[in-house]
Amino acid sequence: MTSPNRHYRPLSQPLPAVDLLIVGAGLAGLYMLHKARSQGLTAHVVEAAAGVGGTWYFNRYPGARVDIQSLEYSFGFDEALQQDWHWSERYAGQPELLRYANHVADRFGLRDAIQLETRIVGAAFDEAARRWVVRAEDGQAWSARFLVLASGPLSTPNTPDFPGLDTFSGPVHHTARWPQQEVDFSGLRVAVVGTGSSAVQAIPVIARQASELTVFQRTASYAVPAHNGPLDPVFEAGIKADYAGFRERNQRMMGGFGSLMPPNAFSAFSVTPEQRDAMFEARWRIGGFGLLGTFNDLIVNPAANDLAAEFVRRKIRDTVHDPETARTLCPSHPIGCKRLCVDTGYYEAFNRPNVHLVDVSQQPIERITAEGLVSGGRLHRADALVLATGFDAMTGTLLRLDLRGRGGLRIQDKWRAGPLNYLGLMVAGFPNLFNIAGPGSSSAFTNVIVSIEHHVNWIARCIADLDASGQATIEATEAAEADWVAHVNAVASRTIYLTCNSWYLGANIPGKPRMFMPLFGYPAYAQRCAEVAANGYAGFKLTPA
Ligand code: NAP
Repeated sequence: MTSPNRHYRPLSQPLPAVDLLIVGAGLAGLYMLHKARSQGLTAHVVEAAAGVGGTWYFNRYPGARVDIQSLEYSFGFDEALQQDWHWSERYAGQPELLRYANHVADRFGLRDAIQLETRIVGAAFDEAARRWVVRAEDGQAWSARFLVLASGPLSTPNTPDFPGLDTFSGPVHHTARWPQQEVDFSGLRVAVVGTGSSAVQAIPVIARQASELTVFQRTASYAVPAHNGPLDPVFEAGIKADYAGFRERNQRMMGGFGSLMPPNAFSAFSVTPEQRDAMFEARWRIGGFGLLGTFNDLIVNPAANDLAAEFVRRKIRDTVHDPETARTLCPSHPIGCKRLCVDTGYYEAFNRPNVHLVDVSQQPIERITAEGLVSGGRLHRADALVLATGFDAMTGTLLRLDLRGRGGLRIQDKWRAGPLNYLGLMVAGFPNLFNIAGPGSSSAFTNVIVSIEHHVNWIARCIADLDASGQATIEATEAAEADWVAHVNAVASRTIYLTCNSWYLGANIPGKPRMFMPLFGYPAYAQRCAEVAANGYAGFKLTPA
């Protein structure tokens, strides 16, 4: 443990000064650092963890792997990197993804500017100096012209406030804060709370190890098979023969990925029921998110959506032997409204005699005792507890910072009714502060690496443009911000996304303002950002140096 004030320096001494202070050494922070340096800027990355990798550093639960194909879920900014790197599986597992992040840090010589095990707790904009003063928990501080939050949209775990949680006698692990050393569940009765993407990946693996596994489900999830396996060398060679072209095609996809199985441009009602099922079936056999692209109205027309939902429910009933368990596992909300899960043997796990499903939709987990979890007045005994309960998504990490803009404006006050920003990138009242892959951008609906590269490139170009034109600061106007938030919501209102309780809406966190945060549709978003930049940063206020 370092002493809290080890790095404290009196404010009379000048603070270390950089052009960019970057919060987070995940994939966004790494690329932002590389990009800034390649443009001659000085940058410093501060990371709370003991290693780089962000999401892939923390989420090391059993079964954790990417659910977008690895050849897509990787950086495209450097041709030599994408040619040299070899993924072993169609969907890489967490250890391989973490190796990739470390490889990027080493390959581009980034480590000397990355400070680990240091948590940023606050930042204030000094209006006279037009610089950010950024503070760490241990008392260190920096002065930066630009502050870049690369802290991730899914980085603050949500631990429900279960009464008695601290009295549980066995180990408690959150999927997003999994221990570094291997956790052995052999011979143990394990309870898993949650059935989102993390749980869907962890449950089949834990089920093979634990003596008994009890899953507590509040809302059933739709999961499509990953059909993961070793990466086919012929397929890999085909992509690498024109990797740039592949990336370019993905740029035109709604989520910045999926050109391998492009969406169909016709309605679910334009074909016969037999043709429809055959088309769903074909995509199911390929696996992954492509199921939602079987028809062009699944996300916008509830009736069309229900056809896809019913197709998956039929798959669940065909897979799960016990009819009551199958019924409980069948979701009733529109498919895709909560993020679709991609699985390897999730529903099949419930056919194991040692796996039990407890429906807590009507009878919530009342309390946790030393012996287990109580729901509906019944104690479910457990020796170990896994919380796969997700994240305070999109805003949780920012709102835990003491972030103060012009006139001491606190981000908590600014965002009291939900996150306001312009293009998802900047907040009025907080000049020279950029947020990567946060609310108001399409990140949550995309291959997030595509969003990260897009944001970093936009920010880097913006800084270059400011410097070239002698501007000191850039700041969103309140009018542009209000229009943007209205736009994000207008787009969502034309879809099924407002019809269920998802983390996109903040609905998974008690008391969080209900506001739709991500923007659907990457290509239109990227085009809008490019147009704004090309039009002299319309909607932003620039201040000359
Ligand atoms: P999540 O999707 O938010 O799932 C959390 C689960 O915990 C839900 O089933 C939720 O139920 C349940 N839960 C929360 N509070 C509860 C309570 N008090 N009582 C009972 N159940 C409770 O979180 P996640 O699975 O960690 O995934 C979050 C996101 O991370 C994903 O949507 C995805 O974007 C990303 N992710 C990606 C991957 C991947 O690429 N492979 C893997 C994991 C995660 P309700 O649904 O009723 O709220």
